[in-house]
Amino acid sequence: MKAACLNSIGAPLALEEVPEPTLERDEVLVETRACGICRTDIHIQDGLAYVPRLPHIPGHEPAGLVCAVGAQVGSPQIGDRVVPHLFLTCGECIYCRTGRDAQCSRGRGIIGVTTGGGFAEYFKAPARNLLLLPDEVPFEAGGLVSCAVVTAVRAYRRAQVQLADPVLVLGVGGIGQILIQLLKHAGARVAALSRSQASLQIAARLGAELCLQAGAEAIPEIIQFADGEGVACAVECVGLGTTMALAAKCTRRGGRIVVVGEEAEFPAVDTIQIAQRELEIVGSRNGSKQDAQDALRWMASGVIQPPIAERVPLDRINDGLDMVRHGRVHGRVVVKVRGD
Ligand SMILES: [Zn+2]
Ligand SMILES: [Zn+2]
Repeated sequence: MKAACLNSIGAPLALEEVPEPTLERDEVLVETRACGICRTDIHIQDGLAYVPRLPHIPGHEPAGLVCAVGAQVGSPQIGDRVVPHLFLTCGECIYCRTGRDAQCSRGRGIIGVTTGGGFAEYFKAPARNLLLLPDEVPFEAGGLVSCAVVTAVRAYRRAQVQLADPVLVLGVGGIGQILIQLLKHAGARVAALSRSQASLQIAARLGAELCLQAGAEAIPEIIQFADGEGVACAVECVGLGTTMALAAKCTRRGGRIVVVGEEAEFPAVDTIQIAQRELEIVGSRNGSKQDAQDALRWMASGVIQPPIAERVPLDRINDGLDMVRHGRVHGRVVVKVRGD
């Protein structure tokens, strides 16, 4: 099969002919139709955060058609449209038992991150990791459930937002835009911060009432927007020390900061602020299988419409990665592996 391979850290992906994945009894082979590109793919290419064994086929937002199943697999069946939950969990540890699939302590990897992924004509997954894609959801949007959409759904739940709460979304990339859709649907009042004017225009179109260029000057406006007290919740999709400091300054006493963005930085929030203002700082990672299932339902009903900015064929994958790396796009870039 044709696959885009990372052969050494820092190198562009190389389009190569490689053997198709071989199936265990509980596994399913999926013919890839589309696969989103995520910032984590850039981190993998650069040797940051996750370091898979090389050569590696990245791609963790794939969707496609089931084309073969292992001997033990009852469902899904050949011809089903599917999207994977990425975490190869044990199904038995305390985290698996309590709906924290992405925290499994005995996991065997993450599809497309530490094991072979969707930048290839075929990928494989255990049957129990695959979710059926509703007919209303096209492959190119469906694949985004695995990372961008499920991450936004999880973060939304971690935010525990109530009706009419003022909420700040920091960073209006793919995840931030989906979060705004969910928050507006839930009746929250949304302020959005971004460095990019184009992203702020998208945020406004999605219903964010206050859209501001990221920076210290934005703080008084956000506090005023949030009844003079600060937002009930800030969702931090950037992950820098400076944006965390901004989030803390904009959050009201007893408010919550949900950390979604990941960078190798230390949050610039002092313990006096956290203690005296009783801030709650919670992390949010990808999501559970249930979060993914619910994400699909919200997509089928139109509440979530993942922003797709650009589509590239598999043989132009490096162009797609460059667009993400340099922030030239304001939404997801999707690799079309095979026509719909
Ligand atoms: Zn991702
Ligand atoms: Zn587990």
